[in-house]
Amino acid sequence: MEVVTFSRNVFIPLTRTCRNRCAYCGFRRNDYRFMKPNEVKNLLSKSKGAVEALFTFGEKPDVYEEFRRNLREMGYQSFLEFVRDMNKLSLEMGFLPHTNAGVLSFNELKMLKPYNASMGLMLEQAVELECHRDSPGKKPEERIKTIKNAGKLKIPFTTGILVGIGESRYDRIYSLEVIRDIHENYGHVQEVIVQNFSPKKNTPMEKFKPPSLDEMVETVKVAREILPRDVTIQIPPNLVKNLEPFLKAGARDLGGISEVTPDYINPEHPWPKIEELRRKVENLGFALRERLPIYPKFVKLGWFSDEVGKVIEIRADEEGYRKV
Ligand code: SF4
Repeated sequence: MEVVTFSRNVFIPLTRTCRNRCAYCGFRRNDYRFMKPNEVKNLLSKSKGAVEALFTFGEKPDVYEEFRRNLREMGYQSFLEFVRDMNKLSLEMGFLPHTNAGVLSFNELKMLKPYNASMGLMLEQAVELECHRDSPGKKPEERIKTIKNAGKLKIPFTTGILVGIGESRYDRIYSLEVIRDIHENYGHVQEVIVQNFSPKKNTPMEKFKPPSLDEMVETVKVAREILPRDVTIQIPPNLVKNLEPFLKAGARDLGGISEVTPDYINPEHPWPKIEELRRKVENLGFALRERLPIYPKFVKLGWFSDEVGKVIEIRADEEGYRKV
């Protein structure tokens, strides 16, 4: 039976402060705050069923002096040093970190790599769009460079496209081709998320029409045709109501699902219950299987540090999925 995977995670929104101002974003805040180590520790302590510690947060919050002052009070010179320490804390508590830190340099990726099982950066679209006018981190060339550098460093990587933010069908195809070309060079892309834009209240794109079901299914189909077979296509299960057309179109992963934390990016869409999802997937003729934030292929290839390896040894089964 063909397998559909997911990862049980705990979502850790370290900060909502962000240097970008994407026109669809409902996550960003101007509060210069970040979670304290004891908050991260308490959240992890409450999340024993999860394996993935998903660090998703605003990009380069330390461009702001007020944020830097708060960091210095905690003894940190840069936010990424703090992120690295929270990654380490998660590993010590038996979790496998996956960090989405936005655009990073080669050296910044290198610094985080030993403490992450995998990392991610949505390409979103490989073309300039109006919604990203005030977002320096959404320049396609910056994002492409980050994804390539992650490949040079052999970091198992998640990327994806955000559909319905003002791009054309041609742009989507081009963006998927860009991801394919990068993967053909470096072999590190484990999954590509095909995510639908979902309008948020009180944002400039509040009234923007989200993509239709047909557009989304067609994009998954096109993604499956363009991307190499060793790249899995992920759809977020809380953003699509009916899984059937997406699985038929070639999606085989449902991303991270949390039993303790909401989807901070799309809080209006609650996570489905895992057992409910299992029933749905099985009714469609697939087996639902839990994976780690690092895909089985990269577990087998040994693309991880000693620190991450110690947790993988405890958490993975002989095929590289989560041990049950
Ligand atoms: S979508 Fe992400 S990068 Fe854009 S403003 Fe929001 S937090 Fe920042």
